[in-house]
Amino acid sequence: MRTRRTSPADNRTTPSRSDGGQARDDASQALLELRAIFDNAAVAILFSRGRWIQRCNQRAAALFGYDAPEALAGQPAAWIHKSAETYEELISTAAPLFAAGEPFHSDWEFRQADGTALVCNVYGQAVDPAHIDEGAVWVIEDVTDARRNEQLLRERQAILDTTMEYMDQGISIVDADLRMLAANRRFQELLEFPDWLCQPGTPFSEFIRYNAERGDYGPGDVDEQVRARVELAGRFEPHEFQRERPDGTVLEIRGRPVPGGGFVTVYTDVTKRARAEERAQYLATHDSLTGLPNRDLFNELLTHTLTSARRYGRAFAVLFIDLDRFKIINDTLGHEAGDALVREMAERFTACVRDSDVIARLGGDEFIVLIEEVDDERQAAATARKLNAAALEPVTIMGRECRVTASVGISLFPDDAQDGPSLMRNADIAMYQAKEDGKNAYQFYSRVTRSRASDPMAMEADLRRAIERDELSLTYQAKLGLATDTIVGVEALVRWQHPEQGTLQPAQFIPIAEETGLILGIGKWVLRQACAQHVAWTAAGLPPVSVAVNLSPRQFRDDNLLDDLDAILRETGMDPAYLELEVTESVVMFNVEEAVDKLHAIKRRGVRLAIDDFGTGFSSLSHIKHFPVDTLKVDRSFIRDLAVDADDRAITRAIIAMGATLGLGVVAEGVETREQYDFLRDYACDQIQGYYFSKPVAEPDFGALLRGHRPWSKPGDSA
Ligand code: C2E
Ligand code: MG
Ligand code: MG
Repeated sequence: MRTRRTSPADNRTTPSRSDGGQARDDASQALLELRAIFDNAAVAILFSRGRWIQRCNQRAAALFGYDAPEALAGQPAAWIHKSAETYEELISTAAPLFAAGEPFHSDWEFRQADGTALVCNVYGQAVDPAHIDEGAVWVIEDVTDARRNEQLLRERQAILDTTMEYMDQGISIVDADLRMLAANRRFQELLEFPDWLCQPGTPFSEFIRYNAERGDYGPGDVDEQVRARVELAGRFEPHEFQRERPDGTVLEIRGRPVPGGGFVTVYTDVTKRARAEERAQYLATHDSLTGLPNRDLFNELLTHTLTSARRYGRAFAVLFIDLDRFKIINDTLGHEAGDALVREMAERFTACVRDSDVIARLGGDEFIVLIEEVDDERQAAATARKLNAAALEPVTIMGRECRVTASVGISLFPDDAQDGPSLMRNADIAMYQAKEDGKNAYQFYSRVTRSRASDPMAMEADLRRAIERDELSLTYQAKLGLATDTIVGVEALVRWQHPEQGTLQPAQFIPIAEETGLILGIGKWVLRQACAQHVAWTAAGLPPVSVAVNLSPRQFRDDNLLDDLDAILRETGMDPAYLELEVTESVVMFNVEEAVDKLHAIKRRGVRLAIDDFGTGFSSLSHIKHFPVDTLKVDRSFIRDLAVDADDRAITRAIIAMGATLGLGVVAEGVETREQYDFLRDYACDQIQGYYFSKPVAEPDFGALLRGHRPWSKPGDSA
């Protein structure tokens, strides 16, 4: 900016034409005019000769701090210079130029009368280049402020440039015409823009197009992407958003309009923060063991599904899955094994459902599945069957092959419940029913009668008091020896006289007793009761038959089992030779070494051992010879279809034959018909147990049966 120190107006004289028409001498007229220009010029003009200031105008006098031109004229030229050196320098620079007929033009430093420094733009020229000692004319303009401002601006620009260059954020500045004004190195790095694009003046739309073409905005029509974004940018509104680049970098982009149009945009790499947030979000909504959604996320998705199912009148299903033998694995092989099993099951279950379905882990061995758009029950049943089958495949855990089964409960929206919690609760109840029905099964809530599906929690509370309230009882089912058609044994089977629900079968409460550990107390009670009864029968003179008592997996693994057994044998006076303990294959298979040790310990006490439900579990026939057992009980499922199923006949025959080879007794369970009886006798099965001969009956009925027993004449035999 130029600063005028004095107004030239007071120095102004206006040439006049007072004597109209009269000719003037041209030269003197011109001189007058020049004089007027000289005096009134808004720039300082100085005439020098030799080393002296010859003449100067008002403006020049004012510039250098003198009252009037006369004060400066006639003074040494060095007076107005900053120093003698700068004066000499000017002369030595200007002289050769003047001699060559060229002007001198440069900024130069001067000094006012009071010593104040000045920067002026100087234009000098020899009056006559042929004779430079004739003097020179200098036109001098004060640019002190302008230069200072320019310097300030340069410094500020340098600070800005340095800041932009070294900051960790990308910056771009776009002008009112949407052209790039400036951008820093980081901007180019973060957005991976080539050099040619980042030139000042490049239209903003070029950047957008470049991004669109390389897919930074995802799929879509490039022209449309460019159009929409340029249109938005042209509004010059503050904006703030995050964008994930195709390479996974997450940019936070904040734009602010600047006065006069255009905007400044700051790009921050927030990938780390975004990932951390994502991770935190993931951890909060997923199960860390399996990576499946957790209960919270499931609830959220369920709510979502409910909303749209209501709106569009659609049905969907909730499937509750619980692993049946999870506890055994967890308890016998340790938590690591349990975890491995859960992970494996999670993978298998995931493979059973469609991508659009949701599978979540609720905790422990519980999973839940949401099947969207279920048109009819069969669809849900098909998935449940798949889940059952997936669980059943052998699984190798810590080098050991195990098998588990899953029980699945199904509730349907809108038939079974209309809100999320009820749907889940009903699916859970149905799952319990599936377990009671024998596990490895699925059940619909709609099929579960209210009374049977009574709340498991209430059931547990009732069961705790069942022994002290004397609600448990035993029934006895005879085992018939086929060689003689006489009763050779009996199996004690527990019943629960529930105060409200009447007689409950073992399937209705043993699973809960097993899960909760209540089975330990119940088991002891059953064993003591069965032994005491046997002693009573013997004392009453009845023929001595063997008494079988079931041991659940949890009882078998219980550390007190042997002590309890010893104590009960001692207390009741039972002859161990007549006692047979029934265990299922799964009990033996999960930790073979430990199980075999325990079986041996039982055998050392003279007690017999039977494998119950043989064939449904997981021991191959060849395994059996390693177990110190006396009896195999062929599972009812093989016997049931003997008449129609050739495979079942073959399996049953093989078990009988193997039993004979290994010196084991073979008992066929669930014999209900003459045909089954005949088949088993023909193939020399040792014993049968089933409704065909006798249902489980309470004492004193069994005592009466035993007392009156003769070799059995079967229905229709003699007639
Ligand atoms: P299990 O040891 O295999 O007992 C045989 C089951 O088959 C009994 O069912 C019996 O009533 C039934 N059954 C016998 N003959 C026939 C037949 O001809 N047809 C049909 N359809 N069924 C027949 P129950 O009494 O309901 O017992 C079921 C299971 O509960 C038992 O299977 C056993 O594993 C368990 N259990 C029973 N009592 C006890 C007990 O005191 N302690 C333990 N830990 N488990 C028990
Ligand atoms: Mg049994
Ligand atoms: Mg059985």
